Amino acid sequence: DSTFRNEVNITQPYIQGETEDEVRRKYHLDKVVKLGSNENPYAPYYHSKNAMIRSISTLNRYPEDDFVNLKQLLADENDLKPENVALGSGAGNIIETISKMFINEGDEVLIAKQSYRLYREVSKLMGGKVIEIPLTDDYQFDLEEFQHKITDKTKLIWICNPNNPTGTVTDASKLEAFMDQVPDDVWVIVDEAYAQFANHLSLANFVRYIGRKRVMVVRTFSKFYGLAGARLGYVLADPEAIQAYDTVTEPFNTNRTAIAGAAAAIQFDQAQIEGTRKKILGDREGLIESLGLLGFSVAPSQTNFVFAKLPDGAPNATTIADALMKQGVIIRDCTPWGYPDHIRVTVGTHKELEFFLSKLTAVLSNL
Ligand code: PMP
Repeated sequence: DSTFRNEVNITQPYIQGETEDEVRRKYHLDKVVKLGSNENPYAPYYHSKNAMIRSISTLNRYPEDDFVNLKQLLADENDLKPENVALGSGAGNIIETISKMFINEGDEVLIAKQSYRLYREVSKLMGGKVIEIPLTDDYQFDLEEFQHKITDKTKLIWICNPNNPTGTVTDASKLEAFMDQVPDDVWVIVDEAYAQFANHLSLANFVRYIGRKRVMVVRTFSKFYGLAGARLGYVLADPEAIQAYDTVTEPFNTNRTAIAGAAAAIQFDQAQIEGTRKKILGDREGLIESLGLLGFSVAPSQTNFVFAKLPDGAPNATTIADALMKQGVIIRDCTPWGYPDHIRVTVGTHKELEFFLSKLTAVLSNL
């Protein structure tokens, strides 16, 4: 008898975690460090920021030309045509639109159990039957099991590479062997939200399957480009799929300011971006080393976050995350993914990580 669609009632809330302001007020803190959402800790790049400021004076206009220009830039970057590119208000919005494009009541959808939670929520919302396949003990996609679970009803397979929350990548050769086995009528959606942080020698190149297999590659400006608050993502696929995507989504599903920031970053900020990438990857290695000294074991990360197993004998991740929050550090407790002894920590600035490590050391010795 609900006002809402049945699927809305059965769908778990998509957990985002506490905001900085909430934590600041709740615990009467001056300083809160947010390492829970895998954001880029640095403000938008120089040209990107200036282009966004300039864009404001033209916000009376719809972003028609902006769409065309950014699609061309993204096509050039990926050796594709503008017809292979569509935009969205963040990868999250794109993932939702893709579900609307494909999933009918009863269609089977394969996802990894410990992966980005939105795939499951939006697939269920469309009436899909979600089949969850656990990661292996070393946090890899169990591709053999994915293959076993493909049936006549399988419509979509969601792959997150590198994977959130584990930060791991699936070996390129394994993924490619899997792709060769996927039946031609099954769509593989690859979420590459963190791909720019990965080692490209080991990352499977899905873009080259476009036109040969039913593949869509989703990316975002939220992480590597530091534009999480601007809300902009893109998807690469064959022109027929892009047309279907554009039919399902609203006409202007992102804004001129975000597009201006993204286009300027691609064209003029590459040197600065590369410097930031090096800084983040260097700080990540320092963080992994420090966590190791505290007794954590950290999965090999190819992203701007780390996934760490608590030391033997430590309290569970919920207790640690709550205690850290009271000290002004927001991290992610991985219990909702079925990892009650793991935390996920974003690679913030060097200073933020020092703050986190000092609070973590105190929390561990007081519990
Ligand atoms: N995919 C993955 C794997 C993510 O981790 C996130 C954000 N945490 C998103 C998609 C959504 O990103 P956005 O909507 O900001 O582009």
